[in-house]
Amino acid sequence: MKKFPVMEHFYTIQGEGVFTGYPAYFIRLAGCDVGCTWCDVKDSWDTSGYPVYSPEEMYDWVLQAGANRVVITGGEPAMYDLTSISEIMINNNIKLHIETSAAHPIIGQFDWVCISPKKFKFPIPEEMIKANELKCIVYNKSDFEWAEQWAQTCDANCALFLQPEWDRREKMMPLIVEYVKENPHWRISLQTHKYLNIP
Ligand code: SF4
Repeated sequence: MKKFPVMEHFYTIQGEGVFTGYPAYFIRLAGCDVGCTWCDVKDSWDTSGYPVYSPEEMYDWVLQAGANRVVITGGEPAMYDLTSISEIMINNNIKLHIETSAAHPIIGQFDWVCISPKKFKFPIPEEMIKANELKCIVYNKSDFEWAEQWAQTCDANCALFLQPEWDRREKMMPLIVEYVKENPHWRISLQTHKYLNIP
């Protein structure tokens, strides 16, 4: 069975979005061709040097940890066909989430899809309907208009989040607070794991 390059994997608390506060086993696949200038995991871009693991080995990590929820993140996990990972998790009653920019087709079966569109490589428009959650990173003022454009392409039930880019949070947060008050279809997402100093 196909193996996937993994940068890191760990059991922690989901810090962002709808599932904030839920325990989840994070699997960070290596490889990303999106190229965000403010990326906080640039070491994930190049797959070379990272070990590869099978879906069975991944499920074993989850089992050993006693987790019931897995978040596949990256890097850009949609660069890979994730069918084999999704099958083993779903067959074992593990809830499976993906966090992706949707710059590639999202292949596999997921309980929760979080799409975070990036200006550096646009999402595939047809993929946006798969989003249960839209998470737009606010780096500067123009990102509000950008976020609204993508929100219009999502399903009506999609949860809409604005999240400050971490290094710009003090500057952008007052603007986000005012924006969400004036546009209450949005919610604020904070990277609470960074405030808690956990992975
Ligand atoms: Fe970094 Fe994610 Fe952007 Fe890739 S999509 S460059 S991993 S922030």
